Amino acid sequence: MKIIVQKYGGSSVADSNKIKNVARRIIKSKKKGYGVVVVVSAMGDTTDKLLDMAYKINPHPSERELDMLLSTGEQVSISLLAMAIEALNEPVISLTGGQVGILTDDIHNKARILKVDSKRINKELQQGKIVIVAGFQGINNNNDITTLGRGGSDTTAVALAVALQAEKCEIYTDVEGVYTADPRIVPEAKMLSEISYDEMLEMANLGAKVLHPRSVELAKNYGVNLIVRSSFSSNPGTVVKGEIQLENIMRISGVTCDKKIAKVAVLEVPDKPGIACHVFSELASANINVDMIIQSIRREKVNDISFTVSEDDLDKTVKIMENTAKKLGAMGVEFDKNVAKVSIVGAGMASKAEFAKTMFQALAEENINIQMISTSEIKISCLVSQTEADRAVRSIHKKFKLNGFEIEEKEVG
Ligand code: ASP
Ligand code: MG
Repeated sequence: MKIIVQKYGGSSVADSNKIKNVARRIIKSKKKGYGVVVVVSAMGDTTDKLLDMAYKINPHPSERELDMLLSTGEQVSISLLAMAIEALNEPVISLTGGQVGILTDDIHNKARILKVDSKRINKELQQGKIVIVAGFQGINNNNDITTLGRGGSDTTAVALAVALQAEKCEIYTDVEGVYTADPRIVPEAKMLSEISYDEMLEMANLGAKVLHPRSVELAKNYGVNLIVRSSFSSNPGTVVKGEIQLENIMRISGVTCDKKIAKVAVLEVPDKPGIACHVFSELASANINVDMIIQSIRREKVNDISFTVSEDDLDKTVKIMENTAKKLGAMGVEFDKNVAKVSIVGAGMASKAEFAKTMFQALAEENINIQMISTSEIKISCLVSQTEADRAVRSIHKKFKLNGFEIEEKEVG
């Protein structure tokens, strides 16, 4: 049997009419002869509401109990979607992550999938049923519920596509596909018909919310045929794949912006071997991901070490760093939440200087100060003040002519 995995995001199942619409789309795919496995997110902003509720009751809830709570959002949407399909007289069954056998590690709130047992799903598919699976969740070896991190339903979908050897994995959302920039910030942003796994991975890591980064990583590792498209139209969307057409290679794919980051600086750390190792190993053992890193020389024998972390990890990071600073005899720790990372991503950045020049020029013309810079083979990121981030994105998008045509500046008056 040909299998298709479809994932519907929270906005696609936000109310009962949308759930019914999704049910009809699913049945259409089944009628095309597919065994259909569907992953759904929690309805609308359910996950945010659950989090709000949790923090009102306890500002520091345990990660285990958070997972217990957050996983309920998806349980609501799978059952309602299954009911909508039942109402259309199609055989269907909804399953939680645990019931499917999505085994994860023990890291609550950002668990990684270790294994997917495809037996149960295959059995249900053999019986002609549409299978609806709760996204974003699994169970650990202890049978405790875990979640995969915000946006993790995409990763559930791709993991199922791998385990079931699906023909394709379609990620349904409320936009038409992957754009050159967030259309809410840059209205003239263009939809990309295709993008490489590597570029998509960078864009997702750098703040493009359309796909969970780990879903792209998985898709790349297993060569999953991954498509991002709208649940409200029949347009083909964006194909994420290994190789893209020659003409599309020598260009920037997009501009991204991540506002949910914070800058942390450890001030006046002694300048000697092993210090950086010490600073970052403490963070690594707390499962905190560190991004841009700068070590700057203050005066003889002391350095400032600055880096960025996700805003969610800021409290933990500052606590750890204050301890570390004391141990190392550093001056202290500073942090700033009012920062954003603006990046350009493109496979064709071999001649980096040219791209960097254009990007920095776009920022200079807007009088936007660059606080940190980092680069890789396929991206350049600049840390700027958060209040200037949208303007930075628009300016860069325009400078690289990513909308495909030059915008005429009309003089007024
Ligand atoms: N419901 C979860 C979230 O809002 C997971 C997801 O939507 O992918 O992050
Ligand atoms: Mg998402």
